[in-house]
Amino acid sequence: MVLSDLGRRINAAVTDLTRSQNLDEKAFESMLKELCNALVSADVNIRLVQQLRKSIKAKVDFKNLPPTTNANSKKRLIQQAVFDHLVDLVDPHAEPYKPKKGRSNVIMFVGLQGAGKTTTCTKLARHYAQRGFKACLVCADTFRAGAYDQLKQNATKAKIPYYGSLTQTDPSIVAAEGVARFKKEKFEIIIVDTSGRHRQEADLFAEMEQVQSAIKPDQTIMVLDGTIGQAAESQSSAFKSTANFGAIIITKTDGGAAGGGAISAVAATHTPIIFLGTGEHMLDLERFAPKPFISKLLGYGDMSGLIEHVQAVTKDNASAKETYKHISEGIFTLRDLKSQITNVMKMGPLSKVAGMIPGMSNMMAGMDDEDGSTKMKRMIYIFDSMTEKELDSDGKMLIQQPSRMTRIAHGSGTSVREVKDLLTQAKMMAGFAKNMGGQKKNMQRAEAMM
Ligand code: GDP
Repeated sequence: MVLSDLGRRINAAVTDLTRSQNLDEKAFESMLKELCNALVSADVNIRLVQQLRKSIKAKVDFKNLPPTTNANSKKRLIQQAVFDHLVDLVDPHAEPYKPKKGRSNVIMFVGLQGAGKTTTCTKLARHYAQRGFKACLVCADTFRAGAYDQLKQNATKAKIPYYGSLTQTDPSIVAAEGVARFKKEKFEIIIVDTSGRHRQEADLFAEMEQVQSAIKPDQTIMVLDGTIGQAAESQSSAFKSTANFGAIIITKTDGGAAGGGAISAVAATHTPIIFLGTGEHMLDLERFAPKPFISKLLGYGDMSGLIEHVQAVTKDNASAKETYKHISEGIFTLRDLKSQITNVMKMGPLSKVAGMIPGMSNMMAGMDDEDGSTKMKRMIYIFDSMTEKELDSDGKMLIQQPSRMTRIAHGSGTSVREVKDLLTQAKMMAGFAKNMGGQKKNMQRAEAMM
């Protein structure tokens, strides 16, 4: 998704403003204008953009700031307001259904043909299976020839039990049969794939209602193609009024589409996005949550996503655990950044995971995996030239010591500029960790995740 471009534009607008000498109302207005332009060109609905602009203006209330407010407080206020309102844009404040262990959770998928339903069904079943649920798939798409075969192939590859029929033409019968059978066999996650067709035909909606009343799903998920732009809003509204889905999965976020249209669907339907499809492979499914998403978009990193990824890929998660403990205490050291980069280098492909590391997506903007990999190696050389004490610091002290930075650059065979960039990034992250740190909630989340 070109969302990374959006993130860069917004970040640049905010950074320009906070770096500018005279942080006056005119500069604030021009930052807001650039922010809104960036959102509109990413296909976010214009009405939503206008609302966002109004809310940020009201929150910052530049005209009525006490005259004693210093530039740093203004910067923080503006950065926080932009962050909070972008989070609001993707947060419908509705809790998605959470499957429970030890009982059958029936999940029905809806969406247009080609949106990525069948692919995503298997990804989701695999996601739950990996987390200890007994998961299976039911193919209730009797409309598209080959749908059952496709599901069978995917399910077999992912080692997920499946059910379908080559002869039964009534989707609600196949769905009910599959669900009944798997319930009897005590499956905990039963995912039902339904037919899509090309357009939002009346037949499709009638069929969806029939399947829904035959299987009474605990959760209905709409799969939305991330590449369809502004059409996402009307499409999701039409589905919502018939199938009343409780969650959205946006697919194809790895492509070149702007993605803002799909984001607008959240506001149109007051429904949370729960996952993003990030590629055609079985593992290309990322959990979605508003704050980490915006955080990653703006280049602040997504620590929780990163830790989850590290855990899924590496057995040894001691360093990830340590980092999360640090963040929840409001700390982020150079050593934390070093261990995260080392983990990512083991995981590859870099483009997938780099954005989760605080500041990394900014630093690696426009690079391919090979360039990114070289850059990361050079960062590790820089860390290796630091003392233990320096690694355990947030790096602020080092930025004020040009001679020490030069020594580190020499020692690591890199440039002073690279050392400085790395430290600046680490400093930003340390500030971010401080903001979120110390909160009991984060600690609990970290523990739950471990
Ligand atoms: P359905 O008709 O809704 O069941 O859609 P399919 O699951 O058959 O997917 C349609 C096409 O989109 C297939 O070629 C998939 O491989 C592709 N696809 C699905 N999800 C993603 C994704 O997240 N990224 C990319 N790049 N392709 C995807």
